[in-house]
This record gives sequence, C-alpha cells and structure tokens, in this order.
Amino acid sequence: MKIQLPRRGVIIMVILISLLAELSPIAAAEGVAGAYGKASIPDLIEKASMYEGKRIEIEGEVIGDKMARSDGVWVAVLADGAAIGVLLSPNDASSIALLGSYARIGDRVRIQGIFHRACPDHGGDLDVHAEHVSKLAEGHATPHAIVPARVSWGFALCLSGTTLAALWRLRERRRKTS
Ligand SMILES: [Zn+2]
Repeated sequence: MKIQLPRRGVIIMVILISLLAELSPIAAAEGVAGAYGKASIPDLIEKASMYEGKRIEIEGEVIGDKMARSDGVWVAVLADGAAIGVLLSPNDASSIALLGSYARIGDRVRIQGIFHRACPDHGGDLDVHAEHVSKLAEGHATPHAIVPARVSWGFALCLSGTTLAALWRLRERRRKTS
C-alpha cells in the first residue's frame, strides 16, 4: 500500500498532464474572453471536436470561387496543405479581390471567427463563420507552368520554319547559279 499510493499519485499526475496537454488547444482558443485563438487549418480539421464552437484565428490564401448565398459568401481558405470553408459577410467578401487558382496566388487573409465541426446551419459541414477579416497580402498572377513552355515551343517551331525556308531558298539559289 505504501508503495502503491505514490504510484497512484504518479498515474493521476500523468492523466492530468495528458488531459491538460489535450485541452491546451481549447485553452489557447478560448484565451481571454472574446479573443481568438490562433489555429492551423490542418489542426482544425484533425482536432475538430476540440475547436467546436470556439473563437479561432486562421491565416491563409483565399482560393477557388466566391459562392454567394442568402446568409453570406463562401470562400475556401488554404494553408499548410489543407483548405476550409469560410462564410464571410458580403462586405468582407468584396474586400477580397483575387482568389487563388492554377494561374494565380489569391489574397492572403487573416480570418477571426467561430469554428463549427458540424455546422447546424450548413448541413453539418465543417466550417468557419468569419467575424473579422483582414487582408495580409494582395494576390497576384503567377507565371503559368505551361505558358512559357508553349511560348518557347511556338518560338522554336517558328524559328525552324524560317530556318527551313531560308535553307530552301539558299538551295534554290545555288541550283539556279550552278
Ligand atoms: Zn456554418
């Protein structure tokens, strides 16, 4: 018994520590009342139940298309290889000019809002209802991977065409002179 008591204490400590470690994202998300806890998008998706109903803050690139609905405008925000659906007010949505695609990098934004693991308003989907949106960087067009290749191919074909024509003319001229 004398040996088992401290052991039990140790076990309880371990359980408490692991519980605290597990709860820490919630503690971070709650923080000061009304504050938004920073979260990564992959974390929100993987540990969704921990963030359920919490005020969270994410940063990422706005991608895809704006989808206007009766209660706001949907966009997708991408960071660290994962994207999440974010519902914006029409006013906030209008501040986003460029959405990322294959040919361009979208606006980079910071979203503060409420996270829902299974949103009751939106068919049980995982989403974020944005309350504050701030733009961190403007989007821009990105050099398209295929276009320069196409351009150089076109240029090469054009060049070989003129070279062939020049060679043919030269040969014709030689034939005439000889
Ligand atoms: Zn929702």
